[in-house]
Amino acid sequence: MTRTRTGWHFLQLPGPSNVPDRVLRAMGRATIDHRGPEFPPFTREIFDGLQSVFSTGEPVMIFPASGTGGWEAAVVNTLSPGDRVLMFETGMFAVNWIDVARRFGLDVDVVPTDWRRGADPEIVHQRLTADNAHSYRAVAVVHNETSTGAATRIADVRRAMNAAAHPALLMVDAVSSVASMEYHHDDWQVDVTIGASQKGLMLPPGLAFIVASRRARDAAQRATLPRAYWDWERMIARNAEGFFPYTPATNLLYGLREALAMLVEEGLDNVIRRHARYGRATRAAVRTWGLDTQCARADEHGDVLTAVVLPDGHDADGFRKLVFERFNMSLGTGLGRLEGRVFRIGHVGDFNDLMLAGTLAGVESGLALAGVPVKRGGVEAAMLVLENE
Ligand code: PLP
Repeated sequence: MTRTRTGWHFLQLPGPSNVPDRVLRAMGRATIDHRGPEFPPFTREIFDGLQSVFSTGEPVMIFPASGTGGWEAAVVNTLSPGDRVLMFETGMFAVNWIDVARRFGLDVDVVPTDWRRGADPEIVHQRLTADNAHSYRAVAVVHNETSTGAATRIADVRRAMNAAAHPALLMVDAVSSVASMEYHHDDWQVDVTIGASQKGLMLPPGLAFIVASRRARDAAQRATLPRAYWDWERMIARNAEGFFPYTPATNLLYGLREALAMLVEEGLDNVIRRHARYGRATRAAVRTWGLDTQCARADEHGDVLTAVVLPDGHDADGFRKLVFERFNMSLGTGLGRLEGRVFRIGHVGDFNDLMLAGTLAGVESGLALAGVPVKRGGVEAAMLVLENE
């Protein structure tokens, strides 16, 4: 069988996701003066749209950066060297955020997990209740752990913090959940939310988002970690006038305006329901194949990706290579300790039923071609879910 490159490439990563043509076209325009009169009306439209997506009345900041920059912004604006932080090692992205916190001299208490579930609200409650001195300054969790496909129940974490009557800030990485899974910055009383452009927001990589609560902004007044580029008070002050403290990624902002319009046209609730359907359909396929998802808890599946565990003796990266060469499809790799054991199917962003069917057909055939012992019929099982929902 010769390798073909006709048709489109299936970019089935859990981010960067497929960028819709509308968004690509919107970005292909002349860059305008970011200090000129056209800028404020343009940016105000974007800031308003972002508030709906993050479900907040707080200002949403946009940094020219990847999600990692968002982690750094969260840390340096709110904390001081030696501050104690509670974090959960739920997967590779949690590990990387923990690393950022430690590089800034924070005293991070890490709760280990088996990478098959979200952060446990019960443990949050225990740790905070035991902390009579209120030494924890923050609890920082990843909402949807993109390396495992397991989500933390943020509303339950907040309830646990409130039940412990503990003043720590709640920081949430919503990089792979916002605009595709339910997320409520205000209702869940999140203090700092971090997002990024390249997943549910359907943009290329390059923008990081931060939402800070009043409490987080107050904490920023007292925090002493050095900050310059990430200083959010400077950002908020300039944004209020429709401008930025430095050169923004103007053409990505054109794309963002278009992506926000698409989310409004579909309706954010419908977008979230659509992703939930894809999650359920993909899991039906995985069950039919007789394989396991990396996420072990039925109530913690993230709906933007499915991480699939291969049986012992089968190499997930070899399988991914086969699928890429044979079917022109990119699947997500296993990260960190899951390298070679897990592959990830992204079903996030600008995506429809038949794209999912094509994706799952490529996975199913790829598994058979790679000699992984699976039962056929996964695509059909997924289509039955889609037909009935
Ligand atoms: N957090 C999560 C949940 C992610 O999925 C990612 C990237 O995929 C990041 C943080 C890091 O973002 P970036 O790679 O854009 O720096």
